[in-house]
Amino acid sequence: MTLSFEQARACVLREVSAARPVPATEQIPALEAAGRVLAETVFADRDYPPFPRAARDGFAVRAADVPGELHVIGEVRAGEIYRGSLSAREAVEIMTGAPLPAGADAVVMVEHTEREGNRVRVGRALTPGENFGAQGQEARIGESVLQVGQRLAFAQIAMLAMVGRECAAVYRKPRVAIIPTGDEIVEAGVNPERFQIRNSNAWSMAVQVGRAGGDPQILPIARDNYESTRGLIEQGLDADLLLLSGGVSAGKYDIVERVMADLGAEFFFDRVLLQPGQPLVFGRVRGKFFFGLPGNPASTMVTFEVFARAAVELLGGAQEAPLRLLQARLSKDFRQKTGLTRFLPAQVSADGSTVAPEPWQGSGDIGALSRANAFLVTEPDRESWAAGEMIRVLLK
Ligand code: AMP
Ligand code: MG
Repeated sequence: MTLSFEQARACVLREVSAARPVPATEQIPALEAAGRVLAETVFADRDYPPFPRAARDGFAVRAADVPGELHVIGEVRAGEIYRGSLSAREAVEIMTGAPLPAGADAVVMVEHTEREGNRVRVGRALTPGENFGAQGQEARIGESVLQVGQRLAFAQIAMLAMVGRECAAVYRKPRVAIIPTGDEIVEAGVNPERFQIRNSNAWSMAVQVGRAGGDPQILPIARDNYESTRGLIEQGLDADLLLLSGGVSAGKYDIVERVMADLGAEFFFDRVLLQPGQPLVFGRVRGKFFFGLPGNPASTMVTFEVFARAAVELLGGAQEAPLRLLQARLSKDFRQKTGLTRFLPAQVSADGSTVAPEPWQGSGDIGALSRANAFLVTEPDRESWAAGEMIRVLLK
């Protein structure tokens, strides 16, 4: 069955979301949890900020007393508490991060004051609440601050530290078996014959799997015969997800689909109106999802990124698996034949505002992909874009 790019993506999200098991969980140190998916809800252990907290260096005052001249009755530094309380026409010198003394309802920035001995003159008006954070304004005690299914990155790890969590429950990484196929393929460390090609797809896929939160397991290269391919696929089905590269085109020795059919596979699609990567297969066999990614390196990389990545993320317990397409301004005219959604190697400028297609020699051109920092994403029904027009971009 042939699908458009959008239909194929919706199909992957729908099928994997509907059938995925809840992954096992493990407790790990928060500092090792970057990139992992949270398996528990995390709650605030107290109000944040835990006390009304000065956001500026200056003077704690009563807003009603200013403008005016006030009596400085003391000082409070971050990490201390002012024991007394503030009466009318009094001020306490305060540092950023210190608790607001009782009786005060605003902080005036030091830049807006003139100090003389124990007197301070404030030239401007203040409203109550200015320049301090109210207790609990960021989170109330008991409120959830991190959700199940959220991927942990530096800000979420900071949140774990903030609420005093040295460890967190995360989902186990899904194991993803990677099977390269092809009689011409040799391992990267081998000195190839003139007619042989080194196995680059297993490595790009392993990196992409890792980046999506999976645990890649590279299997030996399947040869283009039934026994070899079947044996490795059966081995790969121990994993949570199976990725094959190559062997899914219309060639006489492209036998992945035949082996899968014999194993009783259900096929959701076997062609997508996409370039690179048209002959893409997505199915399920013995309860495991699999992708037969076309073997041309650019096709493998792109189809992983736009389809298989989402499957790895969802199998890893992620709440969502969005594909964020941004918009940038084309710096060159651009033409294509209609009919396919294309993900073409491209350069986004350093300031992120403009994009240019990267010259490339087709789906085998790893060089173009390694120079590119993004993909241009075309619409299938549109033939040309002029320099200056906006176009969709997928960052790499
Ligand atoms: P296939 O999809 O099997 O028809 O392969 C398409 C093209 O991709 C052929 O030129 C293959 O040599 C190449 N190719 C297939 N598998 C790999 C791989 N693992 N690493 C690098 N190139 C590959
Ligand atoms: Mg092949």
